[in-house]
Amino acid sequence: MNDCIFCKIARGEIPSDKIYEDDLVVAFNDLHPQAPVHVLIVPKEHFSGLNETGNMSEELLTRLLRTAALVARKLELDKSGYRIVSNCGPDACQSVQHLHIHLLGGTKLSEHMA
Ligand code: AMP
Repeated sequence: MNDCIFCKIARGEIPSDKIYEDDLVVAFNDLHPQAPVHVLIVPKEHFSGLNETGNMSEELLTRLLRTAALVARKLELDKSGYRIVSNCGPDACQSVQHLHIHLLGGTKLSEHMA
């Protein structure tokens, strides 16, 4: 998608603080971190959100989760712990309409998810 901000980041057209990249996904620091570690993992191909998983390959879906775990390990969160979240739709306050997984950690997170 031409005007999608995460597509532009994936293509390298706008700057981002990239932590990991491969043929299918890219991970970069969130611009407005909600925790000491706040990384976004996104597919390079445009999908609006989790509602589109039916159109995504199993390889890509697996890669997204594996990348979250890989980045967590890389940032030494694997023992202290971390949380992944993907907001989907208006009630979840999804603000960027390109599928992304938030990886949060580096502090004791709230017991409450909402
Ligand atoms: P969500 O509300 O789940 O759609 O999350 C979108 C996230 O994208 C927010 O946490 C924003 O801070 C983050 N964000 C928006 N624009 C950028 C950007 N250019 N670089 C990094 N993170 C961004």
